[in-house]
This record gives sequence, structure tokens and C-alpha cells, in this order.
Amino acid sequence: MNKHGYDLSCNVLINGAGLVGSTCALSLAQNGLDVLILDQRSSDPPIEPEPMRVSALNIASQNILTALDVWDRLSPEIKTPFENIEVWDASGHGHLKFEAASVGIGQLGHIVSNSGICTTLHQAINEHPNTSIIWADAITEYATSEDKITVVTENGRTINSQLLVGSDGAKSKTRKLANIDHEAASYQQIAIIASVTTSKPHGSCARQRFLETGPLAFLPISNHQCSIVWSSDLEETNRLLTLSDAAFSEALAAAFNYELGSIESVSVRRSFPLARQHAKRYIGDRIALIGDAAHTVHPLAGLGANQGISDAAALSQIINARHSDNRDFSTRSVLRRYERWRRSENAFLIDTIDSLQQCFGIKNPVVSQARTAGLNLTDRSEILKRKLMHHAIGFGGQTPLLAQQ
Ligand SMILES: Cc1cc2nc3c(=O)[nH]c(=O)nc-3n(C[C@H](O)[C@H](O)[C@H](O)COP(=O)(O)OP(=O)(O)OC[C@H]3O[C@@H](n4cnc5c(N)ncnc54)[C@H](O)[C@@H]3O)c2cc1C
Repeated sequence: MNKHGYDLSCNVLINGAGLVGSTCALSLAQNGLDVLILDQRSSDPPIEPEPMRVSALNIASQNILTALDVWDRLSPEIKTPFENIEVWDASGHGHLKFEAASVGIGQLGHIVSNSGICTTLHQAINEHPNTSIIWADAITEYATSEDKITVVTENGRTINSQLLVGSDGAKSKTRKLANIDHEAASYQQIAIIASVTTSKPHGSCARQRFLETGPLAFLPISNHQCSIVWSSDLEETNRLLTLSDAAFSEALAAAFNYELGSIESVSVRRSFPLARQHAKRYIGDRIALIGDAAHTVHPLAGLGANQGISDAAALSQIINARHSDNRDFSTRSVLRRYERWRRSENAFLIDTIDSLQQCFGIKNPVVSQARTAGLNLTDRSEILKRKLMHHAIGFGGQTPLLAQQ
């Protein structure tokens, strides 16, 4: 395959070399398909400004990345296992704890650096003979014909492919060019992220406290640090962002009820507006959407990247099976199988997370009592907890084959 020319062809063109697009590319390339990836960013590895952005990856995502020979290449500094999850409600006495040991597993997941995992995926892609990344270029238009999709890029490239996969994030250009509508609603919250050092050890536990203004999570990372995700309304976020480091540290420790003691150091803070999005269709003519291009959710359940990795594994499973049988993998009926599978599972998760987010946002004392009762009842029911844990580690729905290894 000509990797750097201006008249290119491949089996699958992937638009967006983020975590999800790169996972999809490797999975297809390992099955013998020629895969090209385009990304508008100019460099690799991206220079990640402090604080480190992280994702809580579940066991299903870990299995997929292990099957692609990527997981074991991630250095221990960028993947920290967590054994327990604790959730509690600041306005009541409701408390819920999930323990890996209670279901006979070593950990419930890992907190992984987003840029660290992308860099490792890109290294694996660069080493693979069937796939490569073109940086600093983007699609401007495309046309489909009976047997291919032809894409034209900003830098004047023409790329012929059988399928175009849109993995270009929440503002997906692929989705726009394909005229795929999406539902979008702001959560009216902004997440502040930062890396902090706490005076008490995190004990490999991912914790989340639901405040009246939104959830506050402390995720364990290396060197006894935590990555925090503090979601609040616009006014509260603006207040928190303008505090000095010392005042922010004190506000943070107090908001977490000093569960991990005081905050000894804090990195710069970054903020992300939070919105729920769901594409009405995941497919078009020789086009499929995966990851944030298809859906975004509130980070309170730490599921967005996991959903995207499962999209990538599911789509490549369907394509790889057809390719192995020497049959066209980009017909509507084949792509519809992917859409049926993943859209219904993602819709269920988006709705569940929405309900949780709304439920914890209600300030009424009766609702607060009901929440306390619900959390404590769940905590006492081993059967229900096992079921919830099964979902949390990524095996709640139809699990892609790569995740079952
Ligand atoms: C505060 C916060 C915390 C989160 N925590 C978690 C968590 O704990 N667990 C979890 O599972 N998820 C989490 N998420 C969600 C997770 O970060 C995303 O779901 C995930 O990063 C999406 O990956 P992606 O590859 O689909 O998209 P992106 O990471 O957005 O990648 C898109 C890629 O496409 C490229 N691109 C964009 N536009 C174009 C274009 N026009 N042409 C070419 N290339 C383009 C970009 O440069 C980028 O490389 C969190 C999200 C937020 C905001």
C-alpha cells in the first residue's frame, strides 16, 4: 500500500486516530485488511498538557486490547488497577461498595492515561504492515459508487476504499458529511479534571461522591495520586476554576468529606462541558460511525471509551467474518447488523446513566431518602451487586468475541 502518496486505496479508511479508531484499525489489520487512518492532528505522540487525561477501562476493554497485543505494552505508570468501587450520596447515608474479590477476580478495571494508550496503539499500527496513519489531513468530501467510496482530503489526496469508518469524536465531520442526525442535550454541567496527591492512600479504590451540584470522582493513578473528575453546574465550575490552588485543594478535600485526607498537591485544572449525544443512525452508504462520533455520555459511570472500544470490536468482528468468507463487508445489510447490535446497547447505557444523573440531581428530601434506601438495599444484595458488577466490567450485553478471550 502506498502510504504517503496522493492517490491511495485501501479496504477500510478510518477517519480519526483516537483510542477508538486506532483499536478498530488494528483489529481489522490483524485480519489481513488494508487499513488507512486519517487524523487532522499534526503530530504523534500528542503532547498532553497536564493534567493527564485518564479513562477507567473495564475488563472487556482490557481483553480487547490484550487480544490486539497492546495491553501488555502499556507501562505500569500509565495503567493503574483498581480493585474496588465505592459510591455514596453526600445528602444522605446511602453507600454502595463493589469488590473484585467478592466475584473472585483480581481487579474491576484500570485507570489508563488516554495519551499513553493512544501512543501505544499508534506504535503498534506503525509496526503493522497492513495499516498506517496519515496525520494533518482531513476529509472534505466523499462520493459513493457501486463498489467503493471515494474520499477527497484537504491536502488534495484521493482515497478509494470499500468502507469509511467515522471515529472522529463528538463533533464528527464524517457524521455531518453523511447527513446523519443526532440527538444532543447538554447535561448543564462542566467537568473539572486534575491530578492530585492526597494525604491518605487511595488503596486501589475508585471512589465517587454524589454532591448536590454533581458527582465528584477520585480515580487511583500511580505514585499515590488520584485523577479527579468534578462535575458541577456552570456557576460552581467557574467559581472552582478561579480559586487559587490552595483554596481549590481545600474545597476539594471538603467536598470529598476528607475521605482521602487533605490535598497535598494539585496540577493545573482543565474543564470539559458535558453533553449527551446519540446519532440516530450509526451507518450510511459505505459508512459506519464508532465511539464518540456515534455517542457521548456523562462520565459518572466511566463508560464512554469502553462503549467505543466495544463498538470498534463489534464492527471489526462483523467485517472480519465477511472478509474471511471473501464476501463484501460494506453492504447495507452487513452494516445494519453492527448498528442493531451496538445502537441498542449504547441507548440502554445512555438512558441508564441519564436516569442516574437526574436522580442524584434531585434535591427533594423524600427523593434523598429513597436514594439512601436504594443504595443501601443494593449494597446488601449480593445477587444485584454481582449483576451490576457484570455490567460494569463490560459483560452486560452481547460481548464482542475479542473481549471474551
Ligand atoms: C471528563 C471526562 C472523563 C471521562 N472519563 C471516562 C472514563 O473514565 N472511562 C471511559 O470509558 N470514558 C471516559 N470518558 C469518555 C472518553 O474520554 C471518550 O468516550 C473517548 O475518549 C472517545 O474516544 P474516540 O476515539 O471515540 O474520540 P476522540 O478521543 O475524540 O478521538 C477522535 C480523533 O479524531 C480526530 N479528529 C477529529 N475531527 C477530525 C476530522 N474532522 N478529521 C480527521 N480527524 C479528526 C481527533 O484528532 C482525534 O484523534 C470521559 C470523558 C470526559 C469528558
